[in-house]
Amino acid sequence: MHPIETIRLFTAIRRPYASDRQAILNVLSVYRQADTAIRRFQRQTGLRCISGCGACCEKHDFDTTMLELMPLAFSLWCRGTLDFWHTRALAAREGDRCIFYNAHPGTDSAGRCLMYPLRPLVCRLFGFTAQDDKYGAPRLVACASVKKVFPRSYERATALTLREGAPKMSHFSLRLLITGDEVTRKRLFINAGFLKASERIERITRRQRDSCFDVFTGQRPSPGLAG
Ligand code: SF4
Repeated sequence: MHPIETIRLFTAIRRPYASDRQAILNVLSVYRQADTAIRRFQRQTGLRCISGCGACCEKHDFDTTMLELMPLAFSLWCRGTLDFWHTRALAAREGDRCIFYNAHPGTDSAGRCLMYPLRPLVCRLFGFTAQDDKYGAPRLVACASVKKVFPRSYERATALTLREGAPKMSHFSLRLLITGDEVTRKRLFINAGFLKASERIERITRRQRDSCFDVFTGQRPSPGLAG
């Protein structure tokens, strides 16, 4: 990201927090931008996940923010299933696998994330975005299994990354930063982040019982939100 843009984004972080509803819509807008950039990168390089693989979800050492999980928590609340997931998150211990991971999906094509359309940013970016190394050169944050199974695509992706052609992780992370407040931006393990997000959604929706809206369109009412 250009230094001027970085300064502009950090200045924007100090603006007052608009509202949870607006924050949810802003987060979804960042997700759409990230998905578009990643799809383009995948088309250019042929890089893709291995069908049925859930290796990155099996890791327990990545963190996220409450903010990234607010669209999911809100969507589950609208569908009447937030209590169920909140109880599961409460029971999870530190270091446990993500509660939304489905270890036995039945078929490979079913996927292992039970909340795929509303998964947090970190789950979208891993394997298809670049980070600057200590010398300021872009490096692909690659998945070791993909590298082994699709070596040609990996080579193309690495070459394109060096030419600044890969989406940058920091670009999307900073865009999320300007959306949240101090509490929602705090970095947490995924289950703890979801727990906080669900508690916040419970609090705001208790005050506004009619606040349900479709997280994908922003329209009300919202029966059967995707998740
Ligand atoms: S939210 Fe979905 S993609 Fe992210 S770690 Fe959990 S199961 Fe995996």
